[in-house]
Amino acid sequence: MGTEAKGWYLIVDVAKCDGCNNCTLAVRDEYIGNDFPGYSAAQPKHGHQWIRIQRRVRGDVPMVDAAYLPRTCNHCDAAPCIAAGGPGVVRKRDDGIVIIDPERAKGRRDLVASCPYGAIWWNEERQLPQHWTFDAHLLDQGATVPRCAGVCPTGAIRAVKVTPTEIANVVEREQLRVLEPALGTHPRVYYRNLHRFDRAFVGGTVLGDVSGVVECIGGAQVSLCKDKRTVAEAKTDFFGEFKFDGVPADGGAYSVWITHPDFGETHADVTLSDSVYLGRLMLRAGGASAGV
Ligand code: SF4
Ligand code: SF4
Repeated sequence: MGTEAKGWYLIVDVAKCDGCNNCTLAVRDEYIGNDFPGYSAAQPKHGHQWIRIQRRVRGDVPMVDAAYLPRTCNHCDAAPCIAAGGPGVVRKRDDGIVIIDPERAKGRRDLVASCPYGAIWWNEERQLPQHWTFDAHLLDQGATVPRCAGVCPTGAIRAVKVTPTEIANVVEREQLRVLEPALGTHPRVYYRNLHRFDRAFVGGTVLGDVSGVVECIGGAQVSLCKDKRTVAEAKTDFFGEFKFDGVPADGGAYSVWITHPDFGETHADVTLSDSVYLGRLMLRAGGASAGV
């Protein structure tokens, strides 16, 4: 039997978040005007967003999507704010939750800049740096999850109390990622489908000549290629559309090759620095590259 202690982690599914802000409102409701001694001082009425929702729109009409990214304190296991705070000012609990001490941190405006995620907010009235405490005061009273997870109508936020081995298994199984892993802070907030926010898609609509009439062509084979290698494959849907998602928007050169046994072929080249809709691509016998 292992002896690993269980700790708290947040798992956010970007594909499920619709930006409703219920989680941000629950945090405001919990903390504005309420002191929780030993955990946090009251959040000011204005200016703080202990959980904030970032929005990103990708693509061009008619292939456009929007993604929402809830951001908060990551309760990092190698937290720069703890290192900057000094003894007892910012501490990590045995369950992984990071607490900025509402007494000892008074006057420590410097801590705001110590967080590379922008998760520490300055309370001018109380002269305090503040962050979202994972609702530690509620968990210590027996709550099973923090309020943000309880109010999320789509199940986009999950809070789990598991061992490091268990979370590592979840990370692998669900392909979770953290924000800015290169910082080496080891966040406890994990994201599923983060590609919806930080990567790009390549899409288009495929057309063909059906008895003299231009129609959308479903079932066409589409290959996304880079450096003469196929990196992804798809088939067009009923509306002739295809979409490769999760492609790095790093300025790489890609080509899209499309074939259909009855309508011919075509291709398009693209340099990817953001999501792109390639437009309407006409299949032709012999494969001339063509948009319409
Ligand atoms: S996200 Fe920022 S405030 Fe939260 S633990 Fe990490 S460094 Fe500290
Ligand atoms: S409550 Fe859930 S769906 Fe709404 S913004 Fe928060 S995470 Fe997204």
